[in-house]
Amino acid sequence: MTFSDLKALRPDIQITREEMLWREDTATVPFKITRHFASLIDADDPSDPIRRQSVPTCLENSKAGNYETLDPQQEEQHLIAPRLVHRYQGTAAFLTTDYCAMYCRHCFRRRFTGGMAGPAADQEIQAAAKALSENLQIKEVLLTGGDVLTLSHDQLRYLISSFRQARPDLVLRVCTRIPIVDPDRIDASLIQLLESFDTAPFYVMLQVNHPRELTDKALRAVRLFTDSGFPVLDQTVLLKGVNDNVLILKELFEKCIANRIIPYYLFQADLVSGTASFRVPLSESLRIYKDLKPLLSGLAYPKLALDLPNGGGKVNFSTDSYIEEDGWFLFDGPDGRKHRYPKD
Ligand code: SF4
Repeated sequence: MTFSDLKALRPDIQITREEMLWREDTATVPFKITRHFASLIDADDPSDPIRRQSVPTCLENSKAGNYETLDPQQEEQHLIAPRLVHRYQGTAAFLTTDYCAMYCRHCFRRRFTGGMAGPAADQEIQAAAKALSENLQIKEVLLTGGDVLTLSHDQLRYLISSFRQARPDLVLRVCTRIPIVDPDRIDASLIQLLESFDTAPFYVMLQVNHPRELTDKALRAVRLFTDSGFPVLDQTVLLKGVNDNVLILKELFEKCIANRIIPYYLFQADLVSGTASFRVPLSESLRIYKDLKPLLSGLAYPKLALDLPNGGGKVNFSTDSYIEEDGWFLFDGPDGRKHRYPKD
């Protein structure tokens, strides 16, 4: 997609200098926005939070310090089958496809997303299913990518039936932004497809970053899941210039709860190359999170978490301890090693 395509969708949008200087040939994530998400952009605001998440700028070319990498979670080193990442005892992630309906400019999986590898091949799905049948400690699999709901119904049916045949007990998390960025794609036939695999639950894991994303169309798509008994959870990423504001987050999480979306995680952005302009300093994230607490009910207040760099695993600020030292936060990672994350 080019800026001319964006102009065709939204002739009222003026392309900024920073946007114009973005270079596709050196980018790690392509430019692609849905008609629906483009319709939400406020053309009068060059810093509009919807635009920041979806329209690339040359700031993606800059790298902050030497601690950013393309794969801070070191997923490549935790593969137990092609595309099957196993970092936590009870959970694995299967990279179903590298396609998304829209490429988020803050995407943490830049090593993979939009790389044109396409959907997993049948052999990769069978190899993953075999690995799952041999690793019974894995109880949940994240169907992620990319966005799993870009797959056709036939591809989805093959994937889910392969995993459920290998492990009927496997809980599957459908990780998707489609209800938010392309809500018309969620329809009754998709719900029927999921309902036909009823030996274990599905959970729908959304990423909603701003209250304006919860449009009537998006909420209708969410209701198709919740009305059919599929729990829907939200994993918001804390993003500079998008939602690094207590009142915006309050509105977002209250709107989630009012629409049966459980705010599950508020994520500190990973140390991924090209995303520095989105990263809120961790000391500021902690302040925002603390200030948010008295404003929300326990149900509406998510867990603040971050994925430690160098594949250190996830830490949860409500339960895991840390110390501050010389401009760094120091954590005892779930892998038993010490890890540090820059304070600012
Ligand atoms: S939908 Fe997810 S995988 Fe796709 S670009 Fe956005 S954050 Fe990355």
